[in-house]
Amino acid sequence: MSLFVSVKQEVEAFSLDVSFETPEGLTVLFGASGSGKTTLVNAVAGLSRPDTARIAIGDWVLQDSKTGVWLPPHKRRLGYVFQEGRLFPHMTVRQNLLYGQWFAGKRAQGKEFDRVVGMLGLGPLLKRRPALLSGGEKQRVAIGRALLAAPRLILADEPLAALDDARKAEIIPYFERLRDEVKIPILYVTHSIAEVARLATSVVALKGGRMVRVGPAGEVLGDPGFTPAGVRAVGAVLDARVARHHDDGLSELDAAGTPLFLPGISEELGKVIRVRIAAHDVILSREEPKGLSALNILKGTIDAVRAGDGPGAIVSVKTPAGPVLARVTRRSADALGLVEGARCYAIVKTVSIAPQDVGGR
Ligand code: ADP
Ligand code: MG
Repeated sequence: MSLFVSVKQEVEAFSLDVSFETPEGLTVLFGASGSGKTTLVNAVAGLSRPDTARIAIGDWVLQDSKTGVWLPPHKRRLGYVFQEGRLFPHMTVRQNLLYGQWFAGKRAQGKEFDRVVGMLGLGPLLKRRPALLSGGEKQRVAIGRALLAAPRLILADEPLAALDDARKAEIIPYFERLRDEVKIPILYVTHSIAEVARLATSVVALKGGRMVRVGPAGEVLGDPGFTPAGVRAVGAVLDARVARHHDDGLSELDAAGTPLFLPGISEELGKVIRVRIAAHDVILSREEPKGLSALNILKGTIDAVRAGDGPGAIVSVKTPAGPVLARVTRRSADALGLVEGARCYAIVKTVSIAPQDVGGR
């Protein structure tokens, strides 16, 4: 089910003007603090009422300023996951979860309750009160409560921002499961490029209340001109199948026929995962490299070179495995003749494909 959002709104000195349509899956609203993400989410939630807006899930219209349609928040069938869990402290986890169902105006349906509890691993927590839960566990309950409200859209506004790295890593797979198993659109707000790389089906990048980029995650992240979080955050994502777990601790992936090695992962054989390769971890060579310790060498053709303001450039290489971005100095780009159309080899250090950059697709 596609998500259509078009909002023009002035909030005091701030002006928001955004319009996009994204396909099924998880749409990441990405942008720095103050870029207007929460303002947009509030408009989608019906918590504000912009003069000019159209918001629709598939052909279900929540708001259309042209025809005067405006559904109040409680009629929008939303599951809301906030930065902090916002659970009721005096209720057990089970009661918090059932509250979501009650809010949906439905009687508790055992099967759906069990499915959500199973999916989020909440079984052992049901009798506890929020005070006895870790930050990550609270967030899992909050996701469960949102799901049990039988929503037609999930809104998650920086749901991981209050968690430390270990708790983030614990929650991310649950959002992956939501994206892959729950057939409703998810609008997910973050300013973390790592979360974009892991979770996004589509990316809507905001800056100063304006949309600077929209498209499928692979395309946006593989664009050498997309550097909203600085050049260090640039990196393309590839889809690859888990092919083998080797005795020496390495796992082998198959990216459209190209082998990729990385430190052992626990993902089962055959699973398709998403790998992020940071541009600063890629070296380019015009000749076929020999006698290198790096295990991952991808042959390809340069399809774009984007010079930055400083001494660096981002080179985009089309390989059979997918797009790979490399950060090089402009001096090297000139010396090696790294120009559009040139054949080259992208060398990726094995260890540079960090486990936190690997995720289910
Ligand atoms: P983000 O969620 O991307 O960090 P916000 O949508 O919260 O950004 O804010 C966007 C801009 O709108 C900011 O400059 C903020 O100061 C301003 N803003 C947000 N809400 C209000 C408000 N109620 N009154 C005045 N300005 C606001
Ligand atoms: Mg915000």
